[in-house]
Amino acid sequence: MADRPRLTTTAGAPVSSNQNAKTVGRNGPLLLEDFQLIEKLAHQNRERVPERVVHAKGWGAHGTLVVTEDVSRYTRAKVLQPGTKTEMFARFSTVAGEQGAADAERDVRGFSLKFYTEEGNWDIVGNNTPVFFVADPYKFPDFIHTQKRHPRTNLRSATAMWDFWSLCPESLHQVTILMSDRGIPTDPSRMNGYGSHTFSLWNDQGERFWVKFHFKTRQGHAHFINEEAEKVIAKSRESYQEALYGMIEDGRFPKWDMFIQVMPEDEADAFEEKTGWSAFDLTKVWPHGMYPLIKVGEMELNRNPENYFTEVEQSAFNPSNVVPGIGFSPDRMLQGRLFSYPDAHRYRIGTHYDALAVNRPRSPVAHYHMGGEMTLGLATNPDAYYEPNSFGGPVEDPSVEEPPHRYAGDVGRYDFRGTADHYSQPRALFEMFDDGEKQRLFNNIAGAMQGVPEFIVDRQLAHFDKVHPDYGAGVRQAIAAQTRDDAEASLSTSHSAAAE
Ligand code: NDP
Repeated sequence: MADRPRLTTTAGAPVSSNQNAKTVGRNGPLLLEDFQLIEKLAHQNRERVPERVVHAKGWGAHGTLVVTEDVSRYTRAKVLQPGTKTEMFARFSTVAGEQGAADAERDVRGFSLKFYTEEGNWDIVGNNTPVFFVADPYKFPDFIHTQKRHPRTNLRSATAMWDFWSLCPESLHQVTILMSDRGIPTDPSRMNGYGSHTFSLWNDQGERFWVKFHFKTRQGHAHFINEEAEKVIAKSRESYQEALYGMIEDGRFPKWDMFIQVMPEDEADAFEEKTGWSAFDLTKVWPHGMYPLIKVGEMELNRNPENYFTEVEQSAFNPSNVVPGIGFSPDRMLQGRLFSYPDAHRYRIGTHYDALAVNRPRSPVAHYHMGGEMTLGLATNPDAYYEPNSFGGPVEDPSVEEPPHRYAGDVGRYDFRGTADHYSQPRALFEMFDDGEKQRLFNNIAGAMQGVPEFIVDRQLAHFDKVHPDYGAGVRQAIAAQTRDDAEASLSTSHSAAAE
């Protein structure tokens, strides 16, 4: 006892016993006055917060971003000035699985970053793919429904997925990446990260540039094919946690190079006229040939969390967390997520989620929000609880006002999902695959389509044909081969049953 801390109640009072409940006599009933026991049981009931609706299973680590190059002509953000070193936290995740899901499943990976800059937190809530399945936030909840469980069977539904995808051809690009080799990275260090959305940078002269963020793995890409992943999952459902935690404990710190693609503000219309793609369409990339990668710096993860719950589970990332010099764009999915992410955190972990240690900015915080769950109090004069006031409360700083956006047009529900060219970019990707990659793509798709009604399969095949005739033909052949294999397997099962 001498050199160990004294066990206390949550109110700090010492506790006399953590072994024996207080009873009336040796075999008598418990007493309500054993408040410490009651508190212990009540806390146990409250040990979980609702899991994230998407990205529930995650792995996280702390690290640093060092800016090695000079991109100050594009942005005044202090975090992006040459030589700046910023503490950060990363959380990787799968999208669809629940908290107990296996890590090595075929899925898109979340790639969320929080930079604790001297001007407040800057978050990139990215993925390991440069694009997404849908381009309009109206389709976001519907898409997620197709990835989750069917309300009646409580099983994942391949029919729902392919029905939705085949009715939303803008998903083809992301579906092709998901079903390709890159659909199952071996661990979080062996994949790229992308901010995916178009954001903006603005400089001291008030010039705005559209920007895409890229983080390229220095460990090299490594992926499992389905059969390898099945073997990994049979042994461990926690292979990513083991890998990321293990490499950081061993001092093998994973690193990524950070790049940006930059488009001058007034080029967006010309880009759309030339290519047929909106610069703000989350289902499309900006070709590197038109907008080359510009190196910014290096990111390293070098410290494991001390407590998974407080740091990884309670970490909350918002695309709305930007700092002066970084701004938004008209990307519709980004605009939708500016609302939906902070709203998810308020629901999941509480009104003041930003005050929790992992989310708390390292720069001073001073605002006028009051009350609500877990209010930690304001650092300012208690008389300054409204604004304007005469008591020294915080005041605005017009010097950080971003340049005005140049949006113009008539209000309406414009449809670029239905009209854009959804086939050329998946084609460019498909043409990069070697024969082996193509065959695995076909097999993965055929496997994922098992049990899906024929009219849905046919609708999806027509999209693959439009990407490239070899794509549609390859998937058709893989489906036929799989059907033959299944028939032979069931024949041999019935032969051996007859022989018994
Ligand atoms: P580039 O040849 O300049 O770039 C190809 C990109 O594809 C590289 O970033 C590369 O990333 C990535 N890549 C290579 N192999 C695969 C793979 N098997 N699965 C997924 N990505 C892969 O061409 P473009 O910029 O003109 O783009 C052509 C196509 O490449 C796009 O339609 C898109 O599908 C894909 N792509 C493009 C990106 C972009 O931002 N322009 C980003 C990622 C993919 P790495 O260096 O890590 O291998």
